[in-house]
Amino acid sequence: MQNFPAPVPTSRLEISAKAYRQNIRYIRSEIGPKPTISAVVKGNAYGHGIAQMVQIAEKSGIRHFSTFSSDEAWMVKKHSIKNSEIMIMGMLYEEELEDLIRADISFYVFDFQRLQKAIEVSSRIEIPAKIHVELETGFHRTGFEWEDRERLVEVLQKGKDQVVLEGLCTHYAGAESVSNYVRVKNQISVYYDFKNYLSENNLFFNRYHTACSAATLIFPETIMDMVRIGIAGYGFWPTKETYFAKLKDLPKNNKNPLKRLITWKSQVMSLKKVEMGEFVGYGNSFMALKDMMLAIVPVGYGHGYSRLLSNSGQVLIGGKYCQVVGTVTMNAIAVDITSLKQVQVGDEVVMIGRQGRQEITVASFSESTQQVNYELLTRLPRDIPRKIID
Ligand SMILES: *Cc1c(COP(=O)(O)O)cnc(C)c1O
Repeated sequence: MQNFPAPVPTSRLEISAKAYRQNIRYIRSEIGPKPTISAVVKGNAYGHGIAQMVQIAEKSGIRHFSTFSSDEAWMVKKHSIKNSEIMIMGMLYEEELEDLIRADISFYVFDFQRLQKAIEVSSRIEIPAKIHVELETGFHRTGFEWEDRERLVEVLQKGKDQVVLEGLCTHYAGAESVSNYVRVKNQISVYYDFKNYLSENNLFFNRYHTACSAATLIFPETIMDMVRIGIAGYGFWPTKETYFAKLKDLPKNNKNPLKRLITWKSQVMSLKKVEMGEFVGYGNSFMALKDMMLAIVPVGYGHGYSRLLSNSGQVLIGGKYCQVVGTVTMNAIAVDITSLKQVQVGDEVVMIGRQGRQEITVASFSESTQQVNYELLTRLPRDIPRKIID
């Protein structure tokens, strides 16, 4: 066997543990000492890396993690050194139930099929599954309907010695916008109707939990025994509106208590002179209106740099903002460095993060839609190395 050198990727990610501690401190100050904070680590921890985030979060005192699917839950299990609680909010296969129950991983049940299966497996292996009963209150994705309540009570009462009623939960549709106040209020009220109905039937749960980041921050009445914090933990406001809604309560000396964890860096691969009138890259989406100098950066949509950033994204080189010109290709972008002096091959390029006194937040990638934040982060390929820094 020949020995090859270790491959060096075209870009790198740094994840700040210090920023995470700050975000958790801020969220804790919002919710008070009692509620559990569950760190939502679905989507490879919003692109930050499950392995890295479990390590960082446990060091910050987090002992509860939420995932979408069972594969992510096993990842958390593998990297947890504090025996943290793990909760699956979405996908699992019935064949996995036994292993999940034995591993003490809790999971959502949102229909009778999964509920019955959980009870069945629990009785067979004589280990109670920890279940979170999810209620449909207006999100219209998963959850038991109000019309299901009698049958739900019947099944839960029959199975209640076989399973642990770990949680009663729901998810809000639109908590990221204050203008959805009425809709969220309605969801809260459906949730409480359900909760009361179950209580009257002697069904009580260890934890009542409904709030994601946005709900936690702008609808404090949704904070119950636990909050499920995704995006805010990573240092992003769920939307601009959530930020503006909080702004008046924030101290003058710290107008943004949420700190971005992630920094994404590459370097200049080559330099290119372009004359006025020439088109840059594929097609004709960008024509040089003057003689220009470009830097080619080896990061493209294949590396998670969204094509939406064609002709609109910015990077930092030499502490200055440089505009992406032309289309984002699979492996590279061209950026305008005409006004910069002395850029050289190998110079650092920051796609997300700080360089000198300037900063690129993911949001400034594209102000048009916040969804780009979530999407761009979660699309950062798993094979880009993620290094924890303090
Ligand atoms: C993703 C998710 C969350 C976290 O949402 P953020 O907006 O990132 O805080 C909470 N609950 C459920 C059910 C989710 O799917």
